[in-house]
Amino acid sequence: MTFQTFLLKYGEIGIKGKNRYLFEDALVRQIKYSLKGVEGKFNVYKSQARIYVDCLSEYDYEDVVEHLKRVFGLVGICPVVRLEDEGFDRLKEEVVAYMKEMYGEKDFTFKIEARRAKKSYPKNSMEINCDLGEAVLENLKGSSVDVHKPEVLVNVEVRNEIYIYSQIIPGPGGMPVGTNGGAMLLLSGGIDSPVAGYMISKRGVKLHATYFHAPPYTSERAKQKVVDLAKIVARYSGPIELNVVNFTDIQLYIYDKCPHDELTIIMRRYMMKIAEHFALESGCLGLITGESIGQVASQTMQSLAATNEVCTLPVYRPVIGFDKQEIVDIAEKIDTYETSILPFEDCCTIFVAKHPVTKPSVKRIKKSEENLQDKIEELMKEAIESTEKITVRAF
Ligand code: ATP
Ligand code: MG
Repeated sequence: MTFQTFLLKYGEIGIKGKNRYLFEDALVRQIKYSLKGVEGKFNVYKSQARIYVDCLSEYDYEDVVEHLKRVFGLVGICPVVRLEDEGFDRLKEEVVAYMKEMYGEKDFTFKIEARRAKKSYPKNSMEINCDLGEAVLENLKGSSVDVHKPEVLVNVEVRNEIYIYSQIIPGPGGMPVGTNGGAMLLLSGGIDSPVAGYMISKRGVKLHATYFHAPPYTSERAKQKVVDLAKIVARYSGPIELNVVNFTDIQLYIYDKCPHDELTIIMRRYMMKIAEHFALESGCLGLITGESIGQVASQTMQSLAATNEVCTLPVYRPVIGFDKQEIVDIAEKIDTYETSILPFEDCCTIFVAKHPVTKPSVKRIKKSEENLQDKIEELMKEAIESTEKITVRAF
């Protein structure tokens, strides 16, 4: 079956009144972005509280649907057969042909729902419903009408052209990216942080990201892995500004001056501070991490409190209550999992203590950080100034 148009439905929440156009414009922008990843020419536009994608050239159906399913804010994707108006008899034939191809020999109940935007059409909606319904009943043996709870609702919209659709492929839901400010994701090469970024982006938040590496202790390939992960997340979120911070000197300095069982927590606190610096610089309203309570020593309630203590912006931790397997399930769904499990070291695994503190007290950590007084400000400044900025796009 060839579909000439996709009718896209969005959720109604949060788009009442005068903000509706912002929501719709963001949606159109994200749809255009997502379709850059597909071969073919498309025209994306809004009209009467709906969004349409007209297909202007040959295209791969599965591929288009796959890409539209990544656009947050869409709740339904309806492939439409679009016809010229060549009289009612011709329409009847087309609807029967459509139903045969879509539902063939199956047993199913249906209802025709006609809408007549073009008031000059010779039949009214009721007449269209009855006459088309009768034609389908006559031609498809397995069909029967159920006007209350049909299995197949066949929409026939009469405008300048005629639109026929009956399938609604579920969209991802959420809000279009760009309708809810920006946030800074602390993106590591692991499983959790890409998922965390995806989840916040789903609520319409534009993503920025910061990655800390420690060359030569971490390799170029470990960094490439993070760029690749950002690229996958960017399929959903749109382009991501990624800051790659050289953290080596700070890590070595902490290693040199602080108790080793506190290394991870202290490091994490400096990561948060630097990420917050970039967040404020680019107007972000929050930080995002992939932390989950109790997953490792640095994510106990005490450790989270100690890390959190250095931040002034809110820290969003969307996977905080998830078990590892639940996070893995999402990572698989969004396609980051295979990349996340590639075996390149990340900067934390090199400097971890055998027995890290699991219940750090903020007071003690602050005391240890006093050992860093001499050089830490200068090292932070250097790390910030030497940060590499990469714009990561999916397409
Ligand atoms: P992930 O799977 O996201 O790497 P993890 O289970 O390995 O998480 P940790 O290493 O304790 O957990 O990291 C907790 C969070 O801190 C990460 O989810 C991420 O947001 C942030 N983080 C850790 N290491 C880095 C890094 N090198 N660069 C940027 N952020 C990091
Ligand atoms: Mg990690």
